[in-house]
Amino acid sequence: LFYVVPLDPEHSGTDGEMLIMVRDRTEQRKLERMRTDFIANAGHELRTPLTSILGFIETLQGHAKDDPDARERFLKIMQAQTERMLRLVKDLVSLSALELNERRLPEDVVDLREVAETVCEMMDPVAKNAGAEMVPGPLDGPARITGDRDQLIQVAQNLVDNALKYGERPDGTPTKVHVSVGRGPSLAFENADRSGDSPEQIAVRAGCRPDDLRFIRVRDEGPGIDRNDLPRVTERFYRIDVERSSAKKGTGLGLAIVKHIVGRHRGGIQIESAENRGAAFTCYFPPQVHSEAEAPAQD
Ligand code: ADP
Repeated sequence: LFYVVPLDPEHSGTDGEMLIMVRDRTEQRKLERMRTDFIANAGHELRTPLTSILGFIETLQGHAKDDPDARERFLKIMQAQTERMLRLVKDLVSLSALELNERRLPEDVVDLREVAETVCEMMDPVAKNAGAEMVPGPLDGPARITGDRDQLIQVAQNLVDNALKYGERPDGTPTKVHVSVGRGPSLAFENADRSGDSPEQIAVRAGCRPDDLRFIRVRDEGPGIDRNDLPRVTERFYRIDVERSSAKKGTGLGLAIVKHIVGRHRGGIQIESAENRGAAFTCYFPPQVHSEAEAPAQD
Protein backbone atom coordinates (compact mmCIF):
# COMPACT_ATOMS: atom_id res chain seq x y z
CA LEU A 1 0.00 0.00 0.00
CA PHE A 2 1.23 3.49 -0.77
CA TYR A 3 0.16 6.61 1.08
CA VAL A 4 0.91 10.12 -0.08
CA VAL A 5 0.92 12.46 2.91
CA PRO A 6 1.07 16.25 2.45
CA LEU A 7 3.84 17.82 4.53
CA ASP A 8 3.09 20.58 6.94
CA PRO A 9 5.58 23.42 6.14
CA GLU A 10 5.36 24.72 9.72
CA HIS A 11 6.83 21.51 11.16
CA SER A 12 8.95 20.12 8.34
CA GLY A 13 10.29 23.44 7.06
CA THR A 14 9.27 22.58 3.52
CA ASP A 15 6.07 21.96 1.68
CA GLY A 16 5.51 19.02 -0.59
CA GLU A 17 4.46 15.41 -0.08
CA MET A 18 5.85 12.39 1.65
CA LEU A 19 5.43 8.88 0.23
CA ILE A 20 4.87 6.10 2.77
CA MET A 21 5.06 2.49 1.64
CA VAL A 22 3.45 -0.24 3.78
CA ARG A 23 4.17 -3.85 2.87
CA ASP A 24 2.28 -6.78 4.40
CA ARG A 25 4.87 -9.46 5.08
CA THR A 26 2.59 -11.91 6.92
CA GLU A 27 2.47 -14.35 4.02
CA GLN A 28 6.23 -14.17 3.46
CA ARG A 29 6.87 -14.74 7.18
CA LYS A 30 4.49 -17.70 7.14
CA LEU A 31 6.37 -19.25 4.22
CA GLU A 32 9.73 -18.69 5.92
CA ARG A 33 8.34 -20.27 9.08
CA MET A 34 7.05 -23.28 7.12
CA ARG A 35 10.44 -23.73 5.50
CA THR A 36 12.38 -23.69 8.78
CA ASP A 37 9.81 -26.02 10.40
CA PHE A 38 10.19 -28.35 7.44
CA ILE A 39 13.98 -28.44 7.68
CA ALA A 40 13.80 -29.01 11.45
CA ASN A 41 11.31 -31.86 10.96
CA ALA A 42 13.34 -33.45 8.18
CA GLY A 43 16.48 -33.19 10.30
CA HIS A 44 14.74 -34.83 13.22
CA GLU A 45 13.30 -37.63 11.08
CA LEU A 46 16.75 -38.40 9.66
CA ARG A 47 18.55 -38.14 12.99
CA THR A 48 16.37 -40.77 14.65
CA PRO A 49 17.37 -43.72 12.43
CA LEU A 50 20.98 -42.51 12.29
CA THR A 51 21.27 -42.38 16.07
CA SER A 52 19.82 -45.86 16.31
CA ILE A 53 22.23 -47.23 13.66
CA LEU A 54 25.18 -45.65 15.46
CA GLY A 55 24.03 -47.24 18.71
CA PHE A 56 23.91 -50.69 17.11
CA ILE A 57 27.34 -50.24 15.51
CA GLU A 58 28.79 -49.45 18.93
CA THR A 59 27.07 -52.48 20.44
CA LEU A 60 28.40 -54.68 17.64
CA GLN A 61 31.91 -53.38 18.25
CA GLY A 62 31.48 -54.03 21.96
CA HIS A 63 29.79 -56.84 23.83
CA ALA A 64 27.81 -58.24 20.88
CA LYS A 65 30.96 -58.83 18.82
CA ASP A 66 31.10 -62.55 19.46
CA ASP A 67 27.39 -63.26 19.63
CA PRO A 68 26.19 -64.42 16.18
CA ASP A 69 22.49 -64.26 17.17
CA ALA A 70 22.73 -60.68 18.39
CA ARG A 71 24.76 -59.76 15.33
CA GLU A 72 22.08 -61.14 13.03
CA ARG A 73 19.31 -59.34 14.92
CA PHE A 74 21.10 -56.00 15.08
CA LEU A 75 22.05 -56.11 11.41
CA LYS A 76 18.37 -56.66 10.54
CA ILE A 77 17.37 -53.61 12.58
CA MET A 78 20.11 -51.54 10.98
CA GLN A 79 18.93 -52.65 7.57
CA ALA A 80 15.34 -51.62 8.38
CA GLN A 81 16.49 -48.22 9.68
CA THR A 82 18.62 -47.64 6.58
CA GLU A 83 15.68 -48.55 4.35
CA ARG A 84 13.54 -46.08 6.27
CA MET A 85 16.10 -43.34 5.74
CA LEU A 86 16.24 -44.14 2.04
CA ARG A 87 12.46 -43.82 1.79
CA LEU A 88 12.59 -40.52 3.61
CA VAL A 89 15.34 -39.14 1.38
CA LYS A 90 13.40 -40.31 -1.68
CA ASP A 91 10.26 -38.50 -0.49
CA LEU A 92 12.22 -35.37 0.38
CA VAL A 93 13.83 -35.36 -3.07
CA SER A 94 10.38 -35.83 -4.69
CA LEU A 95 8.99 -32.87 -2.76
CA SER A 96 11.86 -30.55 -3.56
CA ALA A 97 11.84 -31.60 -7.23
CA LEU A 98 8.14 -30.71 -7.29
CA GLU A 99 8.86 -27.32 -5.76
CA LEU A 100 11.69 -26.66 -8.20
CA ASN A 101 9.42 -27.32 -11.17
CA GLU A 102 6.59 -25.33 -9.66
CA ARG A 103 6.49 -22.84 -12.50
CA ARG A 104 6.43 -25.41 -15.28
CA LEU A 105 2.80 -26.20 -15.94
CA PRO A 106 1.97 -29.85 -16.58
CA GLU A 107 1.07 -30.13 -20.24
CA ASP A 108 0.59 -33.71 -21.44
CA VAL A 109 -2.87 -35.04 -22.18
CA VAL A 110 -3.33 -37.75 -19.58
CA ASP A 111 -6.26 -40.12 -19.25
CA LEU A 112 -6.93 -40.75 -15.55
CA ARG A 113 -8.47 -44.10 -16.47
CA GLU A 114 -5.16 -45.23 -17.91
CA VAL A 115 -3.40 -43.92 -14.75
CA ALA A 116 -5.80 -45.95 -12.57
CA GLU A 117 -5.35 -49.11 -14.66
CA THR A 118 -1.55 -48.79 -14.57
CA VAL A 119 -1.49 -48.29 -10.81
CA CYS A 120 -3.93 -51.16 -10.14
CA GLU A 121 -1.74 -53.47 -12.19
CA MET A 122 1.44 -52.19 -10.55
CA MET A 123 0.08 -52.53 -7.02
CA ASP A 124 -1.69 -55.86 -7.52
CA PRO A 125 1.29 -57.97 -6.31
CA VAL A 126 1.76 -55.66 -3.31
CA ALA A 127 -1.94 -56.01 -2.49
CA LYS A 128 -1.83 -59.81 -2.79
CA ASN A 129 1.21 -59.85 -0.53
CA ALA A 130 -0.73 -57.85 2.05
CA GLY A 131 -3.68 -60.24 1.73
CA ALA A 132 -5.72 -57.50 0.07
CA GLU A 133 -7.46 -57.15 -3.25
CA MET A 134 -7.35 -54.34 -5.83
CA VAL A 135 -10.80 -53.56 -7.21
CA PRO A 136 -10.59 -51.29 -10.26
CA GLY A 137 -13.80 -49.60 -11.23
CA PRO A 138 -16.01 -48.09 -12.19
CA LEU A 139 -13.54 -46.65 -14.69
CA ASP A 140 -16.13 -45.61 -17.24
CA GLY A 141 -15.19 -43.45 -20.19
CA PRO A 142 -11.94 -41.60 -20.67
CA ALA A 143 -11.25 -38.83 -18.16
CA ARG A 144 -8.60 -36.73 -19.82
CA ILE A 145 -6.86 -33.79 -18.27
CA THR A 146 -3.75 -31.84 -19.13
CA GLY A 147 -1.25 -33.06 -16.62
CA ASP A 148 2.00 -34.77 -15.82
CA ARG A 149 1.53 -38.53 -16.20
CA ASP A 150 4.36 -39.61 -13.87
CA GLN A 151 3.16 -37.30 -11.14
CA LEU A 152 -0.44 -38.46 -11.50
CA ILE A 153 0.73 -42.05 -11.24
CA GLN A 154 2.56 -41.09 -8.06
CA VAL A 155 -0.67 -39.60 -6.65
CA ALA A 156 -2.64 -42.80 -7.26
CA GLN A 157 0.22 -44.99 -6.09
CA ASN A 158 0.64 -43.11 -2.79
CA LEU A 159 -3.10 -43.35 -2.12
CA VAL A 160 -3.24 -47.08 -2.91
CA ASP A 161 -0.11 -47.64 -0.85
CA ASN A 162 -1.80 -45.94 2.14
CA ALA A 163 -5.03 -47.89 1.61
CA LEU A 164 -2.97 -51.09 1.79
CA LYS A 165 -0.91 -49.94 4.77
CA TYR A 166 -3.69 -48.47 6.90
CA GLY A 167 -6.86 -49.95 5.45
CA GLU A 168 -6.93 -53.41 7.00
CA ARG A 169 -10.41 -54.40 7.98
CA PRO A 170 -11.04 -54.20 11.69
CA ASP A 171 -12.18 -57.87 11.74
CA GLY A 172 -8.99 -58.98 9.96
CA THR A 173 -10.72 -60.27 6.80
CA PRO A 174 -8.98 -59.34 3.50
CA THR A 175 -9.54 -55.73 2.63
CA LYS A 176 -10.47 -54.35 -0.77
CA VAL A 177 -9.01 -51.22 -2.31
CA HIS A 178 -11.43 -49.61 -4.75
CA VAL A 179 -9.97 -47.35 -7.43
CA SER A 180 -12.45 -45.43 -9.54
CA VAL A 181 -12.31 -42.69 -12.13
CA GLY A 182 -15.03 -40.41 -13.38
CA ARG A 183 -16.30 -37.00 -14.35
CA GLY A 184 -18.22 -34.50 -12.24
CA PRO A 185 -18.66 -34.92 -8.46
CA SER A 186 -18.00 -38.46 -7.30
CA LEU A 187 -20.57 -40.56 -5.46
CA ALA A 188 -20.28 -39.60 -1.82
CA PHE A 189 -19.39 -41.94 1.01
CA GLU A 190 -22.63 -42.11 3.01
CA ASN A 191 -22.68 -40.74 6.55
CA ALA A 192 -18.99 -40.03 6.45
CA ASP A 193 -16.88 -37.25 7.95
CA ARG A 194 -15.49 -34.97 5.28
CA SER A 195 -12.48 -32.77 5.00
CA GLY A 196 -10.57 -30.92 2.31
CA ASP A 197 -12.22 -29.28 -0.67
CA SER A 198 -15.67 -29.96 -2.07
CA PRO A 199 -15.97 -30.41 -5.87
CA GLU A 200 -17.89 -27.11 -5.98
CA GLN A 201 -15.06 -25.20 -4.28
CA ILE A 202 -12.47 -26.84 -6.52
CA ALA A 203 -14.45 -25.98 -9.64
CA VAL A 204 -14.84 -22.32 -8.61
CA ARG A 205 -11.10 -22.05 -7.96
CA ALA A 206 -10.19 -23.70 -11.25
CA GLY A 207 -12.73 -21.66 -13.22
CA CYS A 208 -14.82 -24.57 -14.48
CA ARG A 209 -18.14 -26.22 -13.65
CA PRO A 210 -18.29 -29.08 -11.12
CA ASP A 211 -19.55 -31.31 -13.95
CA ASP A 212 -16.37 -30.61 -15.94
CA LEU A 213 -14.11 -31.95 -13.20
CA ARG A 214 -12.42 -35.33 -13.56
CA PHE A 215 -11.57 -37.41 -10.54
CA ILE A 216 -9.60 -40.38 -9.39
CA ARG A 217 -10.75 -41.93 -6.14
CA VAL A 218 -9.19 -44.52 -3.85
CA ARG A 219 -11.32 -46.05 -1.13
CA ASP A 220 -10.48 -48.72 1.41
CA GLU A 221 -12.57 -50.71 3.87
CA GLY A 222 -10.36 -50.15 6.90
CA PRO A 223 -10.83 -48.41 10.24
CA GLY A 224 -11.05 -44.91 8.70
CA ILE A 225 -9.42 -41.78 10.08
CA ASP A 226 -10.46 -40.06 13.30
CA ARG A 227 -12.39 -36.87 12.54
CA ASN A 228 -9.90 -34.81 14.56
CA ASP A 229 -7.01 -36.03 12.43
CA LEU A 230 -8.85 -35.77 9.12
CA PRO A 231 -8.01 -32.11 8.35
CA ARG A 232 -4.34 -32.65 9.19
CA VAL A 233 -3.34 -35.85 7.38
CA THR A 234 -2.04 -33.98 4.31
CA GLU A 235 0.39 -31.90 6.41
CA ARG A 236 4.05 -32.73 6.03
CA PHE A 237 5.25 -35.27 8.61
CA TYR A 238 1.78 -35.64 10.14
CA ARG A 239 1.22 -39.21 11.21
CA ILE A 240 -1.53 -40.60 13.36
CA ASP A 241 -0.34 -42.96 16.03
CA VAL A 242 3.36 -42.60 15.21
CA GLU A 243 4.30 -45.99 16.67
CA ARG A 244 1.89 -47.80 14.39
CA SER A 245 2.61 -45.63 11.36
CA SER A 246 6.39 -46.02 11.69
CA ALA A 247 6.04 -49.76 11.90
CA LYS A 248 4.08 -49.45 8.68
CA LYS A 249 6.93 -47.86 6.81
CA GLY A 250 5.53 -44.36 6.65
CA THR A 251 7.46 -41.12 6.32
CA GLY A 252 4.54 -38.76 6.90
CA LEU A 253 5.21 -37.20 3.49
CA GLY A 254 3.06 -39.39 1.22
CA LEU A 255 -0.11 -37.29 1.39
CA ALA A 256 1.84 -34.01 1.41
CA ILE A 257 3.28 -35.09 -1.95
CA VAL A 258 -0.21 -36.00 -3.20
CA LYS A 259 -1.56 -32.59 -2.15
CA HIS A 260 1.32 -30.79 -3.79
CA ILE A 261 0.88 -32.59 -7.11
CA VAL A 262 -2.90 -32.13 -7.12
CA GLY A 263 -2.38 -28.43 -6.36
CA ARG A 264 0.02 -28.08 -9.31
CA HIS A 265 -2.77 -29.39 -11.51
CA ARG A 266 -5.12 -26.78 -9.99
CA GLY A 267 -7.19 -29.54 -8.48
CA GLY A 268 -8.17 -30.39 -4.92
CA ILE A 269 -8.63 -33.36 -2.60
CA GLN A 270 -11.70 -34.40 -0.69
CA ILE A 271 -11.17 -36.86 2.13
CA GLU A 272 -14.02 -38.90 3.56
CA SER A 273 -13.93 -41.29 6.44
CA ALA A 274 -16.39 -43.45 8.33
CA GLU A 275 -15.39 -45.29 11.46
CA ASN A 276 -14.69 -48.94 10.70
CA ARG A 277 -16.08 -48.56 7.16
CA GLY A 278 -13.03 -47.00 5.57
CA ALA A 279 -11.44 -43.89 4.15
CA ALA A 280 -11.81 -42.42 0.66
CA PHE A 281 -9.49 -39.93 -1.03
CA THR A 282 -10.91 -38.23 -4.13
CA CYS A 283 -8.58 -36.07 -6.21
CA TYR A 284 -10.44 -33.70 -8.53
CA PHE A 285 -8.86 -31.99 -11.51
CA PRO A 286 -10.10 -29.38 -13.97
CA PRO A 287 -9.86 -30.67 -17.55
CA GLN A 288 -7.03 -28.28 -18.30
CA VAL A 289 -4.54 -26.16 -16.44
CA HIS A 290 -3.84 -23.80 -19.33
CA SER A 291 -5.34 -20.41 -19.98
CA GLU A 292 -8.84 -20.26 -21.43
CA ALA A 293 -7.45 -19.41 -24.85
CA GLU A 294 -5.85 -22.79 -25.35
CA ALA A 295 -7.67 -25.83 -26.64
CA PRO A 296 -9.06 -28.05 -23.87
CA ALA A 297 -8.17 -31.73 -23.71
CA GLN A 298 -10.82 -33.48 -25.82
CA ASP A 299 -12.55 -36.62 -24.67
P1 ADP B 1 2.90 -42.01 5.73
O1 ADP B 1 4.14 -41.90 4.90
O2 ADP B 1 3.13 -42.05 7.21
O3 ADP B 1 2.00 -43.08 5.25
P2 ADP B 1 1.02 -40.08 4.72
O4 ADP B 1 1.23 -38.62 4.55
O5 ADP B 1 0.85 -40.89 3.49
O6 ADP B 1 2.25 -40.58 5.56
O7 ADP B 1 -0.21 -40.31 5.69
C1 ADP B 1 -0.31 -39.60 6.90
C2 ADP B 1 -1.06 -40.40 7.95
O8 ADP B 1 -2.44 -40.49 7.62
C3 ADP B 1 -0.58 -41.85 8.06
O9 ADP B 1 0.52 -41.96 8.93
C4 ADP B 1 -1.81 -42.56 8.57
O10 ADP B 1 -1.83 -42.47 9.99
C5 ADP B 1 -2.98 -41.74 8.03
N1 ADP B 1 -3.62 -42.38 6.85
C6 ADP B 1 -3.30 -42.18 5.54
N2 ADP B 1 -4.08 -42.90 4.72
C7 ADP B 1 -4.94 -43.60 5.51
C8 ADP B 1 -6.01 -44.53 5.27
N3 ADP B 1 -6.35 -44.90 4.03
N4 ADP B 1 -6.66 -45.04 6.35
C9 ADP B 1 -6.32 -44.68 7.61
N5 ADP B 1 -5.34 -43.80 7.91
C10 ADP B 1 -4.63 -43.26 6.89
